[in-house]
Formats: sequence, C-alpha cells, structure tokens
Amino acid sequence: MPLTNYHTHTNFCDGMSHPVHYVEEAIKQNVKILGFSGHAPLPFHCNWTINEKKYGEYLNTIQFLKEQFAPQIEICCGLEIDYIPELWNEIHDAIRPETLDYFIGSIHFIDSYENGARWSIDGSHAEFQKGWKTIFHRDSHAVIRKYFDYIRRMVTEMKPPVIGHLDKIKMQYSHNCFIPETDPIYRKELMDTLEVIAASDCIVEVNSRGVYKRNEPELYPSFWVLTEMARMNIPVTISSDAHRPREIVSLYKDTALKLKEAGFKHTRYYSKGVWKEEVM
Ligand SMILES: [Zn+2]
Ligand SMILES: [Zn+2]
Repeated sequence: MPLTNYHTHTNFCDGMSHPVHYVEEAIKQNVKILGFSGHAPLPFHCNWTINEKKYGEYLNTIQFLKEQFAPQIEICCGLEIDYIPELWNEIHDAIRPETLDYFIGSIHFIDSYENGARWSIDGSHAEFQKGWKTIFHRDSHAVIRKYFDYIRRMVTEMKPPVIGHLDKIKMQYSHNCFIPETDPIYRKELMDTLEVIAASDCIVEVNSRGVYKRNEPELYPSFWVLTEMARMNIPVTISSDAHRPREIVSLYKDTALKLKEAGFKHTRYYSKGVWKEEVM
C-alpha cells in the first residue's frame, strides 16, 4: 500500500513550517499522496486555526504546490473543520467544503464558559479541568455524553469524508479527573457512536499523534475500538496529524500492523478525486 497522509498542519495554522517543506520531506520519505488539512477558520477568536484573512492564501499556496510538484507527488487540499452544531451553517458558508478535495471533521469544543469563551477538550489538563469543574460541575459522564453526542451529530449533519481522532477526549484521563475507557458509560457512548458511523459513508482516521507526540499507549481510536470497527466493517485511513515535516508518516508502519491485528484487511486512500480501497 502506498505511503499517504491526509492530516497535515502547516504554519498557516498551528504547524511549524511552510507547506513546501512538508512536500519536500514527503518526497524524501517516498510518500505518494500528501493531503493538507489546516484547521479551518472559525467565527470566533482561536489561536490555532487559519486566520480567515489568510484562507485564500492557504488555498492558493496548496494549489500552486499541487501543480509545481505534480510529477513527483500527488497533493490534495483539505481542511480539518470543527463541528460546532450552532455554528455549522456559518462555518460551512464561509469555507464551502465542497470546493476542497476532502475534509476531516473533528470535535475540539463541546461547550463554553459563562463569558462565552469556548472550552477546548484538546488543550492542557489544567484547561480541561477548569471547564470540567466550572461548566460540568465535575460530572465526567456528562462530558463524555456530550462529546460523543457531538460526534454523532457531526456524522449525520456535517457528513465529513473523514472523522478526526474519534476518541481524543481520552487524553484527558488523569490527575484524579475524568473516567477511564473501561467505564461502562464511556463504552456505551462509543459503541452507540460506532453504530451511527457504520450506517454513514464516513471513514475513520487512525491517528498516531498521541503515541509519537505524548507517549500515549494507544492510537486514536484505541485498539479495543479498532477491533469493534473491523467487525462492523467501518473503513479507515492512516494519519499522523503532522505538525512538523518530519512527522508526516510517523508510525505509519506500526499503525498498519495494529490495524491488521485488529482485523482490518483494507485501508482507504484518496487519489484523483475519489476514496479508494487498498489491500493492506
Ligand atoms: Zn484535531
Ligand atoms: Zn489536526
């Protein structure tokens, strides 16, 4: 199967380098298809998304690289788009996702503080605990229910071609806060979510960033989730969620082995306008 990655952040959002450096590194590492997925602009202040004033430049830059490097590598232009139910129409109209090659739908926000500031579940433990205490009054199950409810609504309303880091919320389990994946309510929420995904056309990305970046023991999603997904025939694509050129295909081979162990026989990859199935 060809080396590919569709989850790549550059210095247009919170990545470290200009897109051209990722392309050069991808060619060096024999990557066949590279997809850029900058964090889509949001209609509120956020320091890790593409500034709306830079969005046109982002699209033009990727298009330029696509043409310039066409003989050596296939480049795709995408975005990682936050699904926030009450803002989805506004975000959709500003971005027009249908004009992209593909996009990843992700959940990073599930609520706001009283002053209106958004609470991210993808930041530090300290930030997570602040919202857990002040917004959810330490009710971990309420957080879990809302997180997976948002994923399910994202699948049915946003219909993303790819679902980003399905169980990212598990990274916040620590420091006497929150619940482990073995919790029955966590498991039920996750299984209900897989049912909704299985009935959709969405592909779930298998994301290695937690393992190579934060030394987490498990991929997103965890191995037990992957075995359930394989049983339910939910399609997958391998991604690194790279924020630096050298991370483009981090742990790609280990991730493929894990997928085989979990029971997968195929992965999906995007090329020339369509998602195709590839034998592993
Ligand atoms: Zn993300
Ligand atoms: Zn990302």
